[in-house]
Amino acid sequence: MINFTEYNFKGKKAIVRVDFNVPLNKSTYEVRDDTRIRAAIPTIKKIINDGGAVLLMSHLGRPENGPEDRFSLKHVVSCLSDLLEQKVDFVCDCIGSEAERKANEISAGEVLLLENLRFYKQETAGSKEFAKQLANLADVYVNDAFGTAHRAHASTAIIAQNFPNDKMYGYLIAKEIESVSKVLNNSISPVTAIVGGAKVSSKIVIINELLEKVDNLIIGGGMTYTFIKAFGGKVGKSLIENDYLITAKEIIEKAKENNVRLILPKDSVVADGFSNEARTLVCDSSEIKDKWMGLDIGPKAIAESVNCIENSKTILWNGPMGVFEMEQFQEGTKQVALAIASATKKGAFSLIGGGDSVAAINLFNLADQVSHVSTGGGAMLEYLEGKSLPGIKAITA
Ligand code: AMP
Repeated sequence: MINFTEYNFKGKKAIVRVDFNVPLNKSTYEVRDDTRIRAAIPTIKKIINDGGAVLLMSHLGRPENGPEDRFSLKHVVSCLSDLLEQKVDFVCDCIGSEAERKANEISAGEVLLLENLRFYKQETAGSKEFAKQLANLADVYVNDAFGTAHRAHASTAIIAQNFPNDKMYGYLIAKEIESVSKVLNNSISPVTAIVGGAKVSSKIVIINELLEKVDNLIIGGGMTYTFIKAFGGKVGKSLIENDYLITAKEIIEKAKENNVRLILPKDSVVADGFSNEARTLVCDSSEIKDKWMGLDIGPKAIAESVNCIENSKTILWNGPMGVFEMEQFQEGTKQVALAIASATKKGAFSLIGGGDSVAAINLFNLADQVSHVSTGGGAMLEYLEGKSLPGIKAITA
């Protein structure tokens, strides 16, 4: 496999799959959050600095029937240009004569952004023909879109077939892979995983995988109450998945067998409604009254979790501890985030992997105080679950 860092792009035209699927302002179409664009800059700069030319391709949103102005990548040009501190050219198609003309004319050190790949249905269908048309624009293929690496789309996986000797992934994917490896394969003990979020059902595969790898597993969020109910606890109106009560018991058994310390929240912040204005109180997680629901972990649970996290050397966090979108139920998630930052400061390696914990770490302005914040929600979850991602396999195979 070719190593991106060692490859010399001098005189080469590289087509780079990036993830510029960024949120835009609904009326002005300005970029609201440039995290994903920033994440691609080092890869783009390396190619330019080597003396190569860069063709960027990405999707944006979910256009259903061909081109739509609100999903045009032209809206990200000025943001990208500011971050790169150089001019970025744009072509209003990603294949066809105009794209070919501009790709032919591009010189070393220049950057050309192609229009939204998903204006063609062939992209998500994984069309070989479409992939070939994209491939014909360049000499080298670089995939740096970790957020779509779990999809076998034309630009994320199929296109690689056209570059048997000139395909590689960029700095961002390399960093995501290395981070997961530091947590799951080459970790330093004690290793702690924190898994929260809404449901057991969506986290069951990752929990089972983690039980083979970690010393401590902290459970939080809505899934807590399925575990508590499985052992006869009273959970009131808390979120419950009755189909997963046996699964919850099996997880607890497996943790014992594997010598994993499983931390379930001893207490909870409960509310008499799913609202920021609801009345709240703190109670034992297994003694929640009939009309009340657990919406955050309580002070005892926070203290136990924080203590465990602060004594860890490797930390993985996926999923919030409570309904952190509402201020009343933010404390558990916030204290966990702060504990991760504090452990990182003391030398631990910390990976924030998965959609809502990424939103939480950003909300508390702690993103720069942890080791790595993943850019791929679904992709990171699948990767942590041990699945092989088509976008990565296409490069390594
Ligand atoms: P997930 O995508 O599975 O990580 O779930 C994230 C969502 O879980 C967030 O929107 C949280 O508001 C929600 N959540 C966290 N804790 C609870 C809870 N105790 N009850 C209901 N929803 C929760």
